[in-house]
Parts: sequence; structure tokens; C-alpha cells
Amino acid sequence: AYYVIHGDFVTLSDGTGVVHIAPAYGEDDNRVGQKYDLPLINLVDVQGNFIEEVTPWQGMFVKKADEKIIETMKESGILYKAEKYLHSYPFCWRCDTPLLYYPRDSWFVRMSSLREKLLENNDTIHWYPDNVKKGRFGNFLENVIDWGLSRERYWGTPLPIWECDCGHRDCIGSIAELKEKAIQVSDDIELHKPYIDHVLLQCSVCGKEMKRVSEVIDCWYDSGSMPFAQHHYPFENKELFEQNFPAQFISEAVDQTRGWFYTLLAISTAIFDKSSFENCIVLGHVLDKNGIKMSKHKGNVLSPFTVLENQGADALRWYFYTASAPWLPSRFYEDAVIEVQRKFLNTLWNVYSFYVLYAQIDQFDPTKYQGRTSSHVMDKWIISKLNTMIHKVDENLEAYDITKAAELIQDFTDELSNWYVRRNRTRYWAMDMIDDKIHAYLTLHTVLKNLVIVAAPFVPFITEEIYQNLVVQLDEKAPESVHLCRWPDYDENLVDQQLEQEMELTYKICSLGRSARNLANIKNRQPLSKMLLSTKELPEYYIAIIKEELNLKDVEVNANMSDYVSYNVKPNSPVLGKSHGRFIPGIRKAIAAMDQMELALKITSGQSIIIEIDGTPIEFNAENLLVTMSGLEGFAFAGEGDIGVVLDTHISETLRTEGYAREIISKLQNMRKDSSFEVMDKIKIYMTGNALLEEVVRQYRDYIINETLAVEIVFDEVREYTDVTINGELLKLALVKQ
Ligand SMILES: [Zn+2]
Ligand SMILES: [Zn+2]
Repeated sequence: AYYVIHGDFVTLSDGTGVVHIAPAYGEDDNRVGQKYDLPLINLVDVQGNFIEEVTPWQGMFVKKADEKIIETMKESGILYKAEKYLHSYPFCWRCDTPLLYYPRDSWFVRMSSLREKLLENNDTIHWYPDNVKKGRFGNFLENVIDWGLSRERYWGTPLPIWECDCGHRDCIGSIAELKEKAIQVSDDIELHKPYIDHVLLQCSVCGKEMKRVSEVIDCWYDSGSMPFAQHHYPFENKELFEQNFPAQFISEAVDQTRGWFYTLLAISTAIFDKSSFENCIVLGHVLDKNGIKMSKHKGNVLSPFTVLENQGADALRWYFYTASAPWLPSRFYEDAVIEVQRKFLNTLWNVYSFYVLYAQIDQFDPTKYQGRTSSHVMDKWIISKLNTMIHKVDENLEAYDITKAAELIQDFTDELSNWYVRRNRTRYWAMDMIDDKIHAYLTLHTVLKNLVIVAAPFVPFITEEIYQNLVVQLDEKAPESVHLCRWPDYDENLVDQQLEQEMELTYKICSLGRSARNLANIKNRQPLSKMLLSTKELPEYYIAIIKEELNLKDVEVNANMSDYVSYNVKPNSPVLGKSHGRFIPGIRKAIAAMDQMELALKITSGQSIIIEIDGTPIEFNAENLLVTMSGLEGFAFAGEGDIGVVLDTHISETLRTEGYAREIISKLQNMRKDSSFEVMDKIKIYMTGNALLEEVVRQYRDYIINETLAVEIVFDEVREYTDVTINGELLKLALVKQ
């Protein structure tokens, strides 16, 4: 009665290589049981107790019987050895009760017969990331098994199959069909359990009563039926269903490969022979700060409600858009959300607040100035950038690249705030409503309005708030919500690529100039005489911006960097020695013969070059070359790619005096802020205690008065002062609101 069969799932690592097989109580066991036609003997009832035939343990719970069985074996002398053994075992995920494998009759959908169709239809889906198609999902379909459809539950969608004692079965497809075949059924029939179980059909074969089978349907079948079930198709809404099927886009987490993604495709393949969705973004899982899966058990769960409460829904959304591609796992922690809130949402809000602050002071109404075009370079630039951004965000959303689209919005907002608004502030401060001021307002209003429309799908709340105040309040014909606006039109005629490139270059030169100042440890408020650029040419307009941004008297283009900077490029001998030891003398010679600046900037910006040394091409990069660049005595250098800037760091007496004046203005502005004065408040300035600085103030009196909205500067009056330090000089300052 006992014999040994072959099974390749048995391993030697856990014992002798011989295991007992019980086809009724395990997946592998059942498979080999079917292969070798072993009997399926079920000795356990549905309560988990041994049946009558199992003596002497009949009626005993199988887990409790373990020890008794061992005892009996020991008594009859057939036990070789009994020991405790640690192994994995299934438990109920809810109540941790140990589970028993148990053979039950089930209903299956024969998906294996649809394998080819499933694969064909999968080919029509655009997966993001695209490796899901051939990988995780494709592999699953290649090995698709029949779908165990039935569940033995109290609640669920009743399996609509009626059975007769004669063996006849009927699957009911509609209420109408049910009413037609039922023996007796009320007009307002209730399709749920338990009511449906009281409905009996008349057997069309033998005329006896048919009863519904006891099972309900796997709830994944319901989810997979969503595309048509939500419209109650095919019973109604044919047109609505056809308009919306297949869906353009669905999204869920990666664990839905075997869940919703599969059941949607399985059911639509079986019924319509096509996929029910065209595009699918597969989301990665959310992890904790250290990249570990969140679980209650580990106590590392961050509730989304905490973040919704503290940072808000927009910040939460923006974090997930920008943190990484949606399909990569994201680390989720409050500080990360706070960071994006600061970086993007606060920047957007600050620009908006800036506009509102001054528009309110001026009672500015953009609807009164329609049809104007500004010729101001900064206005043309930001409008050009706006249109480019609208176009690129659209392109990226079309390609389902949400992260890139969000980055474009974020970068644009940053430039709007840190370049456009910062460089144009004074235009809003003009006393009269002159054209230039009107254009500044109109431009910023247009930009903000379109920016919030583009950003609305990403951050629906802050954009609606801004839109309501900036647009709906002023224009009763405007759509009542930002979410009802049409996507902004991209106007190619407003895009000026040359302007955008020149401004970007200017921006980069300014940031290099700041690096050079930092290197020389000279703060921006100290004017310097000159900066030299390697850039061949740049229109005067941008030169003026650079002068102002970097507080320079002069900017010179097309400068020969080698006159001010010492470049030193030499082979990194330990690295090159290993691979190309014998070439090193040749390498030294070849490098020395090249344009040192060009080579140095190329290498430091991460590029590589290939040079032939003694007939052998060798690739040079930041790893095998050592590059040092520094300004010669009296100069500070910074460079990136093919752009180099050199600051003349010599500070003359005149420059030093002006530096004092600017520092004093900065101190006064801070004191205005600390005293919570309004932006338009006039002040009176008092100072004493430093003859040198008093002289400076007399010299720059008009400039200081203008910048600080002062009406008068009073020297040496006896009163209370604040001690301040101006570039190392002590001074007593006070100010009073007029
Ligand atoms: Zn349980
Ligand atoms: Zn029958």
C-alpha cells in the first residue's frame, strides 16, 4: 500500500529526501497525487476534527491529536524519533489562528484557455514603467492558471448558478431571466444573500426545483467588472459605456499585478477580447524614512492623516509627484514633505502674496487693462518661459511623466520668484500708475493665473484659493473654479528661445559670480570694480543685470581667463599608473600642449576627452586627471562647463565707502522689518558714535533716504540707540516712524 514516487520539489536539506504525501492537504501533495493517481482521502471534517473512521482520535481537533498520535506510535514501538521542528506555517492574517489546508470543491474560470489572448491584449497596454509588460505582468500571464472564482463566505456577490438534483445547471444572466425561470419571485426582487437563496427555479430538463449553489464570487471579479458594471452595461447606458471603454488610464500599486490589473484584463479579454485600459502607471510602495516597509508591528507607520493635518493635502501630493518616479518606492516622512512644502508651495504662495500686497495698495484691476503687450525684456522673458512651461508640462503629461511635469512647474515657480519678481520688485513701487508698472502687474497676473491652472491637477487646493482671489473675484465671466478652466493655450509666437537662453546664461553667470565672491569672502553688499567673463558676447541688457545682481561697476566679456587664472591639469598618477603607466610622460606632454582652461573646465564639469598618446587612444576624465583652478593674486575665479568668471577683488577707498553705505541701508531695512513697519511707512533716521560712517552717510545721503523711505537723517541727538556693526565699524542707529 505504500510506495515511493518522484517529486522534484523535495529537498535534501531538511531530512532524508523522503516525505509523506497527503494529496488532500497541500498544493504540491495534490499535484503529485493527481499525476500518480493517488487517492484523495479526507479524514478531517470542516471543523478541523477527525472523522468517525479515524480511531481512536475521532472527533478530536487535528492539532490537539498530534501528541496523542506520537504517544500511540511510541506505545506500539514504531516511533523512531519525535522532535520539535521550526518551520513556516500559514496563519489567519486577521486573528492569527493556525490554518489547515483543506480540499474543497470550487468553481473555476478556465483562464488557461485564454492565455494567448491575454498576452496579445497585454501587448496593447502602455505600462509605466514599461518593463512590467514583459516582466512582472507578462510572466504572470505566461503562466496563468485557472481562476478559482468561488468563495465560501456568508457575504458577497452570489454565484448565479442554480442546480437540480438531476444534474442540470443553469447560470442566470439578468433579473429578467431570473423572473422568467423562477417558480415564484416578488417583483422587487432582492438579489443579495440570504434572500436570493429562497428563489427556486424550475428545471427545464426534469421539471423539479433547482436551488442556488451556496458559493459567492471572489470580490476581485467585482473589481475587474468595474468598466461595464459601473454603468450597468449591457442593460443600459450602451453609449456611455462605449465612450469610456477602454479606459485611457488607470493606476494602482505594484501588488495589483495579480489583483486588479489582472482581473480587469482577464474579464475584458473574456467578454470583449480587448484590454479594458490603455495606459497603466504602476505605483511603488511607500516606505519609511530608512527605506523599510511600514508595518504596525514595527511601529514605523506614518499616517497620511498626520501629514494631511500638519502639512496639508497639496504638500503630500507634491511630495509624491516629485520624490521619485511613481513606480519607485518612496520614503515617506514628515521632514521630506515639509521640505517640498518649503521649496514649492511656499514659493508659489510668496509670489502670490507679493502680488496681492501691492495690487491691494494700488487697487489694481487687471480687467481694466486688457489687450496690452509689454516690451519690457523681463516681461517678455517670463511670458516666453510661461509658454514653454505650459507646452512642456503638457508634453510630459501626455507621456505620463508626472515627475518631470511637476519638476517643470517647480523650476518655473522658482525662476518666477527668485528671478522675475526679485528683479522687478521696484517696478511695483513706482508712485504713479505708469505704463511700466501696469505692465509689471499685468505680466505677473497673467503668469500667476496660468501657472495655477497648469498646477491645479497637481495641487488642487492652493491653486483654487489663488484662482478664486485673482480671477473669479474680478471677472464674473471666468469659469467658477480653477478645475473648470481649460488647459492654457500654448502660444508659440510668445516664445523667444534666444531670450530664454541669454537669460539662462545671465542667471548662471550671476550664480558663478556669487561663488567667486564666496571664495574671496567678500559679501555682495561690497561693490567691486570689475568682473571678467569668458563668454564671447552678451547684449548690454544682460550685462546691466549682472552688474546690478553682483554689485559691480564693470563687466568685461570675451576675457582671456588665462591672464587671471592659473590652471593646473596633470595626470592622476596613482590611477593612470595602474592602467597606462608607461604612457605617463607622453600624457604630461600632450596635456601641457592643450588649452589649459578649456581642458580644465571640461574635466571639472564631468565631461571626458579622448587623446591619442603614442598611437593609443586614452580616455581622460575627472578620475584620472587632477585639475586645480584658482584666481591669480587679486582675482577670484569660478567656472562651470565652458563659462568662466573672474572677479577683481581689489577694494579701493571709494568702493569701501560705498560698501559702508550699502551695509547701513541693509541694517536700516532690517530695523524697519523688526519694528513691523508697513512697506510704505516713512521713517526718520538717527545716528551717532562713528565719525567715519557719519561722513559716509553725508556723502550718500540721498541714496540712503531713497532706499529706506526716510524723510530725514539726524546726527548725534541724545536718545536711545541700537548698537550695530557696519563692516567692522561700530555705529549707533535708531529709527522712528513718521
Ligand atoms: Zn481569523
Ligand atoms: Zn432537473
